[in-house]
Amino acid sequence: MIEWGAADKAHSWHPFTPMGDWCAPGHEPLMLASGQGALLRDTEGREYIDGNSSIWTNLHGHRHPKIDAALRAQLDLVAHTSFLGFSNPPATRLAAELIALWPEGPLNRVFFSDNGSTAIEVALKMAAQFFQLTGEPERSRFVAFSNAYHGDTMGASSLGGINAFHGRFSAWQFPATHVDGMPALQQLNPKEIAAVVIEPLVQGAAGIRLWPEGMLAALRNWCDLHGVLLIADEVMTGFGRTGSMFASQKEGVVPDFVALAKGLTGGYMPLAATLTSERIFAAFLGGPERTLYYGHSYTANQLGCAAALASLAIFREENVLAGLQHKIARLSEMLAPVRALRHVADVRQCGFIVGIELRRDGITPFPPESLTGARVCLAARQFGLLTRAIRDVIVLMPPYCITDAELQSAVDAILKSITITLPQD
Ligand SMILES: *Cc1c(COP(=O)(O)O)cnc(C)c1O
Repeated sequence: MIEWGAADKAHSWHPFTPMGDWCAPGHEPLMLASGQGALLRDTEGREYIDGNSSIWTNLHGHRHPKIDAALRAQLDLVAHTSFLGFSNPPATRLAAELIALWPEGPLNRVFFSDNGSTAIEVALKMAAQFFQLTGEPERSRFVAFSNAYHGDTMGASSLGGINAFHGRFSAWQFPATHVDGMPALQQLNPKEIAAVVIEPLVQGAAGIRLWPEGMLAALRNWCDLHGVLLIADEVMTGFGRTGSMFASQKEGVVPDFVALAKGLTGGYMPLAATLTSERIFAAFLGGPERTLYYGHSYTANQLGCAAALASLAIFREENVLAGLQHKIARLSEMLAPVRALRHVADVRQCGFIVGIELRRDGITPFPPESLTGARVCLAARQFGLLTRAIRDVIVLMPPYCITDAELQSAVDAILKSITITLPQD
């Protein structure tokens, strides 16, 4: 039998992970080997609910027959060809289908890349170059919100407002302006601003923080009034997570750029897309000096596009969004006993995204070094639930295919693990 844990510790370096603790003799890495629907199974044969959809990516469950079949069919044709100088059928179809998801227009162009961070990089470069090309080079600043998370590459992390993640690299990041809401934004000189970037409706990595209702629509109006472009980072919120296909659509907003990644392929493959309008696109026409010099080797990967097309077909054929409304309501009811726990300060829900914030007696934050959120998530494993905390906010955002019974077990697992980790009296 292979000693997977030792083999991992010998050579792997994990993201966002204090590797000293990971490699410590007492830590046994959990090795995930297979999955089915909302469940994952480890190399020891133990089964868990995938409580955070494999870090917010999975939509329709693991081993969905339609996505599996689409990938197998694509493999019989070709896995990858270059989008630089060539095109391919699945990417062409996918671009049209993504645009059709925004029938209100004017989004009309799709630029493919590999992940959420690159989808944001693309939007930043397009916005900056757009104003250079249209005679407003002084519009060069980017504005983001406090506690924002837009990815980890240098450009995307310049927009990040989470000091623990990004602070150390500030000397190499471009200077973005951070504001905590609309009033602070309104104090800025709009003529210097190229674009405002926002996670619409809910900031994920900030700890599932919800924006006030109407804020996104107000932001769209402000941008329109001042000629500022709006970049919606729908990397987490896209593809039904908030209960509508895209979060922006809940407030009737069409951004100038939409960044999509995580759920784009149903959580199967690394693929991203940046959507924009014909107006932005048109500025880049007319000679090499107007060209957007940006791209990645795996741009518009055919397997990724095939998976994304299958995921969108599942939305249509299985009425996913209609079915999800019932589960969102059920989840909200199931959370009532969690809300009542002594050390739960807040339970925030936006569609099928839940953040459960823990504080001592519901008031005082636990000291960071006690790793309360992480300990609760570790405890949840013994009750058959995998998820990850953001500091002391427990995240629950399962695949949409989760059954009511599985959803109840996930909530029960959280209830039990909070209770055993933080005694209630
Ligand atoms: C995860 C995430 C990103 C970064 O996506 P990666 O694929 O991890 O690079 C960007 N924005 C938001 C809102 C995210 O949740």
